[in-house]
Amino acid sequence: MTAKTRVRFAPSPTGPLHIGGVRTALYNYLFAKKRGGDFILRIEDTDSQRFVPGAEEYIIEALAWCGISPDEGIENGKIVEQPSEKHPFAPYRQSQRKDIYRGYAEDLVKRGYAYYAFDTSEELDAVRSQAEANGDVFTYNYQIREKMKTSLTLSPEETEKLLSQENNWVVRFKMPVNYIIKMADEIRGEIEVNSSTLDDKVLWKAADQLPTYHLANVVDDKLMEISDVIRGEEWLPSLPLHFMLYEAFGWSDSRPRFAHLSLLLKPDGKGKLSKRDGDRLGFPVFPLEWKNDAGERSRGYREDGYIPEAFVNLLAFLGWNPGTEQEIFSLEELTEAFSLERVVKSGAKFNPEKAKWYNQEYLRMRSSDTLAAEFSLVLKEKGIEKSPEYTTKVIELFKDRAAFVNDFWNLCDFMFKTPESYDLKVKEKFWKEDTSEILDQVIVLFEGIKEFTKENIENILPATIKERGWQMGSVMNCLRLLLVGESKGPGVADIMALLGKDESILRIRRKSLLP
Ligand code: GLU
Repeated sequence: MTAKTRVRFAPSPTGPLHIGGVRTALYNYLFAKKRGGDFILRIEDTDSQRFVPGAEEYIIEALAWCGISPDEGIENGKIVEQPSEKHPFAPYRQSQRKDIYRGYAEDLVKRGYAYYAFDTSEELDAVRSQAEANGDVFTYNYQIREKMKTSLTLSPEETEKLLSQENNWVVRFKMPVNYIIKMADEIRGEIEVNSSTLDDKVLWKAADQLPTYHLANVVDDKLMEISDVIRGEEWLPSLPLHFMLYEAFGWSDSRPRFAHLSLLLKPDGKGKLSKRDGDRLGFPVFPLEWKNDAGERSRGYREDGYIPEAFVNLLAFLGWNPGTEQEIFSLEELTEAFSLERVVKSGAKFNPEKAKWYNQEYLRMRSSDTLAAEFSLVLKEKGIEKSPEYTTKVIELFKDRAAFVNDFWNLCDFMFKTPESYDLKVKEKFWKEDTSEILDQVIVLFEGIKEFTKENIENILPATIKERGWQMGSVMNCLRLLLVGESKGPGVADIMALLGKDESILRIRRKSLLP
């Protein structure tokens, strides 16, 4: 029997989640759900120096907004701290699992896979400077460890003494010499690395009694029975060490499968899409808005007006495709269609226009009632109150032109307030000597229309213009100018039918205000 699929999203609370991180969470979620497995959230907060207050809450809120709900690790919007039937491996925050890791580090030392290192930062600086003076890059590797103050070079008595006297020693992994580490990645295939090219990474630190990322990550993946690790490409360089750790612990048989996702790239494909890019390139790189310590805000997809389903859909397509023409997928459909085999090896270019397109598609799928209810909040802020029926009709008319609810105001502000200024360039172009007098006749014409519907206006207005020998372009453009204030908008008859006879005529009468 194959083990149950269990995957985890294991962010470090070092700031807001980048969209690349949300994509990692999404792929993990889809992978697990497709197999009827579990998706676990684990907070990797063992690097206390990089801890950012509010980041954990941000991660939880961002996943909730996307509809990516973990099966384990979170309950009522909080990280689970006490084990229960549903959350057997709690706590799911590594800082609260502190006591677990030391024993694993010491076990590796006892069995010769790791060692204690006592070098002070001054001593390390000295060897680093010397290496650099010789034109070498300093790495704490198998050659260096023989020259340093470690349990490999000191006698057992000296080691014991230092362990009890000092409090800033560390446990380092003893990377074997000239050993070919053979790894498999579900996306990249076979990978081989010679262990001599790798350094002896720190696994545990006495100073804060905490493990480093590598030890905590591997131990927790084992303890939490993780079957597949799906994470960002930036962790690929750590894979050889993780493989060696599984081997050293004797866990190779239950080692998870690994898949490293390629990076998200800037729109021009030149380099990775970084946390700082968003505001510079004019689109958000975070799911939700984020305010840093200095009070600076970074834009978020939620606050920019994205529909969460659209955001999830566009994210899924950054590095994966179903191999068909279909581009619109609900979360359930994505779950059904997703497979790691169709995840691309190369970096995925972020396309801000495509992102907008997705939102537009989802906006169109929303009912006009729902959009009207959302837009009425925007109107309310502007002190405008209209009946839901009227707002819904306006939304129906403009829906195809909007990508975001917030676009509606720019598109159709004139449906909610009488224009107060007019585009004089339009006037200059279309206003003729007899326009004012013609418009007086148009008013009389409109007054005579019993039912002021689009159809009736369309039946009467152009026919009359032709019949009386007026210039079609001039009359229609001047009418639009008075109704809208400029030359934008849908058909004049559509606008007037919605505004109603009284408001339309009132706007045409305001021609006397034109300078
Ligand atoms: N804590 C790591 C991060 O911040 C997790 C990497 C992994 O998934 O192993 O992304």
